[in-house]
Amino acid sequence: MALVTCEDCGHEVSDRATACPKCGAPVAAAMNEPAPSKVSLDGENFVGTKALLKQLAVKAIHALNYKVDSADENTGLVSFSTGMTWGSWSGVSGSLVFEEVGKHTFSVSGAGKQNVRGGQVLAFNLFDEANGKVRNVQDEMRRLVCSSEQAGAT
Ligand SMILES: [Zn+2]
Repeated sequence: MALVTCEDCGHEVSDRATACPKCGAPVAAAMNEPAPSKVSLDGENFVGTKALLKQLAVKAIHALNYKVDSADENTGLVSFSTGMTWGSWSGVSGSLVFEEVGKHTFSVSGAGKQNVRGGQVLAFNLFDEANGKVRNVQDEMRRLVCSSEQAGAT
């Protein structure tokens, strides 16, 4: 968050405010930067709104044939699971968190955990597989942004 100076009264105002709290004048920075209507990429970060990112994450999860367990645009948390298959012995639960790192800029982080069926101990690295599923979703989100397939997302 940055402070800008109100053009009318000189009061310092958050650049996220739409109007000066002291005199009510509209804040220029906010007027010039309307909320993005679609998600774009800024390096590793996503530019958009939490609502748009939630839509994008849900779309990415569906594209990967995972199941959305919950999606909350207020907390910026989307969780999903891959389900059990004969091939993998176990499913993965993952969650994605959108953290606002700047104005309309979010870093997407995630964590995964393995749901082991019947408590079997498996030899391979469970933690890596679970986190790999989370990375799949993040990669798919980036792919959707780059391919503009997000248009019409619901
Ligand atoms: Zn003012």
